[in-house]
Amino acid sequence: MQHEVIIIGGSYAGMAAGLQLARAKRRVLVIDAGERRNRFASTSHGFLTQDGVDPAEIAERARRQLLAYPTVEWLEGRAGTADGDLDDFTVHAAGKAHRGRRLILAFGVSDQLPDVPGLKQRWGRNVFHCPYCHGYEIGEAPIGVLATGAISMHQAMMLPDWGSTTFFTNGTFEPDADQQAALARRGVNVETQPVRALGGSGDMVTVELADGRSVALGGLFTAPSTRVAAPLAGQLGCDFDDGPLGAYIRVDALQMTSRAGIFACGDAAAMAGSVALAVGDGTRAGVAAHRSLMFPEFLAA
Ligand code: FAD
Ligand code: MG
Repeated sequence: MQHEVIIIGGSYAGMAAGLQLARAKRRVLVIDAGERRNRFASTSHGFLTQDGVDPAEIAERARRQLLAYPTVEWLEGRAGTADGDLDDFTVHAAGKAHRGRRLILAFGVSDQLPDVPGLKQRWGRNVFHCPYCHGYEIGEAPIGVLATGAISMHQAMMLPDWGSTTFFTNGTFEPDADQQAALARRGVNVETQPVRALGGSGDMVTVELADGRSVALGGLFTAPSTRVAAPLAGQLGCDFDDGPLGAYIRVDALQMTSRAGIFACGDAAAMAGSVALAVGDGTRAGVAAHRSLMFPEFLAA
């Protein structure tokens, strides 16, 4: 059977797209590998009506509501390859070829974490990338920014709004005189000693420096580079844009990629993302895919 739309990635963006198509009575296949980017965090913040809720619970509730529609099929697994053209795409997953008239790429990104011992275990617990998501909960405790490159200047300049900030440059970034002055105006303490490891227990994270000192923090922010989580957009010949954190799938204002009949949404198609933005993008991608099924001339416009 040919599906009308195959959605690759069944998290916030993919499910938001699927919901619009399901409500338009279209036959949708969602293929999902079950590895949401925020699976390391126990609470999600900043999404209306779900502030402070477990991100797994938001996803599970969305999935239940989506699967209540009879035209939605769900396949657990990873799509390995995809090819084809408008009205006849093929996606290979779980040992089978799945055919669809439209594709929606909603597979997110993966974070390439800095190689500091102890960091990986704390990712999503007290090491984060997004102050809007996790800054508030740190309360009055001191905050750190671990540099990964020039992008970290931006984080270090923001974090003082959330608390007293130390910027660990860790040999990856050296602020010039203007930047040093800007950091001083924001009250940021700059620490140039290399970071040896992260430690700490409970809510606190400790930055252990090469000279033997250690600094206890309520939270540490860092800016990992990102990679789209699947090679499919490249295989399909979609164009990419370069962002400060990594390349992402190029889309227009209606979430259309450079290839006719292929839409993209969520983190995979944005310079930076959040649950709310993924849901917004996904909704737009679902509606655009539906419109292209009703009115194929829409794709030529
Ligand atoms: P994702 O949620 O990452 O989902 C992509 C899905 O596609 C996954 O299920 C994945 O397994 C699947 N997939 C990938 N490749 C394939 C494939 N080849 N075949 C099939 N399926 C595939 N945002 C907030 O708004 N608030 C927060 O508090 C917040 N906290 C965060 C905490 C951490 C630690 C991190 C890392 C991120 C956080 N974010 C938060 C950001 C948020 O996780 C993302 O913006 C959001 O998950 C993007 O949704 P998405 O649907 O685009 O991608
Ligand atoms: Mg966009």
